[in-house]
Amino acid sequence: MNAAPDIRVVHAACPHDCPDTCAMRVTVENGRAVRVQGDPEHPTTNGALCTKVSRYPERTYHPERVLTPLKRVGPKGRGEFVPVSWDEALDTIAARLKAIAARDPEAILPYSYAGTMGLVQGESMAARFFHQLGASRLDRTICASAGSEALLATYGIKAGMHVEHFTESRLILIWGSNSITSNLHFWTIAQAAKRQGAKLVCIDPRRTETAEKCHEHLALRPGSDGALALALMHELIAHDWLDHDYLERYVDGWPALRERALQWPAERAAAVCGLTVEQIRGLARDYGTTKPAAIRLNYGMQRVHGGGSAVRLIALLPCLTGAWRHRAGGLLLSASGWFAGRRDDAWLQRPDLLAGRQPRTINMSTIGGDLLREASPAFGPRIEAVVVYNSNPVAVAPESRKVVAGFAREDLFTVVLEHFLTDTADHADFVLPATTQLEHWDAHTAYGHTYALLNKPAIEPVGQARSNAAIFRALAERMGFDDPCFADDDETLARRAFLADRVDLDSLERRGWARLDVAEAPFANGFPTPSGKAIVDVPGLGVPDHVPNYECAETTPELAARFPLAMISPPARHFLNSTFVNVKSLRAVEGEPLLEIHPDDAAARGIADGAEVRVFNERGEYRCAAAVSTRARPGVVVGLGVWWRKLGRDGTNVNELTHQRLTDIGRAPSFYDCLVEVAVA
Ligand code: SF4
Repeated sequence: MNAAPDIRVVHAACPHDCPDTCAMRVTVENGRAVRVQGDPEHPTTNGALCTKVSRYPERTYHPERVLTPLKRVGPKGRGEFVPVSWDEALDTIAARLKAIAARDPEAILPYSYAGTMGLVQGESMAARFFHQLGASRLDRTICASAGSEALLATYGIKAGMHVEHFTESRLILIWGSNSITSNLHFWTIAQAAKRQGAKLVCIDPRRTETAEKCHEHLALRPGSDGALALALMHELIAHDWLDHDYLERYVDGWPALRERALQWPAERAAAVCGLTVEQIRGLARDYGTTKPAAIRLNYGMQRVHGGGSAVRLIALLPCLTGAWRHRAGGLLLSASGWFAGRRDDAWLQRPDLLAGRQPRTINMSTIGGDLLREASPAFGPRIEAVVVYNSNPVAVAPESRKVVAGFAREDLFTVVLEHFLTDTADHADFVLPATTQLEHWDAHTAYGHTYALLNKPAIEPVGQARSNAAIFRALAERMGFDDPCFADDDETLARRAFLADRVDLDSLERRGWARLDVAEAPFANGFPTPSGKAIVDVPGLGVPDHVPNYECAETTPELAARFPLAMISPPARHFLNSTFVNVKSLRAVEGEPLLEIHPDDAAARGIADGAEVRVFNERGEYRCAAAVSTRARPGVVVGLGVWWRKLGRDGTNVNELTHQRLTDIGRAPSFYDCLVEVAVA
């Protein structure tokens, strides 16, 4: 008689860089994960996961997963490796790092981002390791720092509305966000609001799946969001749709902002934004007269030169109307500030291990240029070693030619902790097999809701995979680091990540998640700044204004004459940045790398739908298929990303065209501030 299968359900958390941070339930049958589902009890997950993560078992047991340590045997970039033992890999890596550190530990650079958002497998043991080593520090700017720092400068905290309260909003501006693709659970909430009579307006250069399901879509030019916000303020002032009492009590610098906004009549903004005066006036009327009105801002719009200023301006809009008084009014860009002070960062990351040293900081967004820099008094030592975890810079960092040339340096020692042979792993000297979320402990904050989560391992590590924390623990031992913190195991790190008096640990343990205690209408009575008011005139930044793109007809007319199309490169629906590109079933849905181009722009260039095109500028060239479609507005093309270079038509992706110039605030890349020309290949 067959034994009954051993079936367990384990509480987990989605680790990906997505505001929804879903609570998951993993069904394990005889030690194998067979199903991953959304937790029906978690208020925002509400039982559903996106298509990408419902395929998590397919990714975990993927036949191409790296299951042993690998050592390079071919030229860099070719991905030619042989399996080696953990001892050989770790001994060799430790010996190399020791030798470099003996000369100058700042020649070693950790490179990581949000491949997992977990506090344990992100920056816990890894941070301790690099702090003890005295390695260069990494400025983690590649996605959100322009908007994050802008929000912090304005509100004193990187936080906003509870996402659940959007159900009660009467008007929702979905600004710079394709929610259906990258914030699915917010979209469910917006649908509920719509059913109760709310109006949804999408503000996005692309006619996304989200835009076409909203009541209205304003397809503004990339980089013009600040001008639109100023014109909305102008209209609010002109019609006196202002909450004077709120402005008086809770806004520091209103007269200066008023003066700035009065310089931006709708006619001026319409010319900058590529919208009609009527569209701007109509939006202002809706926003000024509908209560409660809420803005779901997302990070797409801040990936331009003036991204930080634009976020400051948009963040001030609900201060003019007093929308913050109601729990369903205000704005949500990030909720991550609510977690500050509730997790034990000092214990997790141990910055005290630096022992007074102040290593230099390298900006992850300029990694291409920095890998090619020689030693100098200003820069410090040449980068001799890079340890990459939770990131795929060869595919995702801007200006690929430099990034690829940097990682191809024969004298660079590169270690990559990965699940798969990504474009970056192909350049490694050693690839170390990392566990997936189903195989390790972790603890999670979120940036789109206010629930802490605990992730318990559902299955044993696949093959010889080890968690990131375990890998850095083993390296620390070989480096001779003897602080007792290097002995903390993953479960201890996960269970102690949150402060017991600030997060309900009992709920975390029982349900896998715990709601933070955050006020219902958090800024109804002011902001957590020293004055208690939102700040207009930020020291060092001044009063915000529209900042034009680095590359546009206004600032670089000669360049715009040669490369007249503005390119944005948002994620394709079934990929999450560069994650999931190698999952065949998802790649099959996406088909191949596409460039959306408006029919008028396509006709002017003789481009037919489906034709192979060259997309080019002074930095490089990228080949893909044209999708002639009104999803792209005239003058703007959309290169859906982020494809792995080696899965593209000619071994490149859109970042062949992007540049390394940084945003006005937050030192972030301006991916969507990029002029190109397109021609039939
Ligand atoms: S990627 Fe986002 S929507 Fe998908 S499961 Fe993860 S958190 Fe949820």
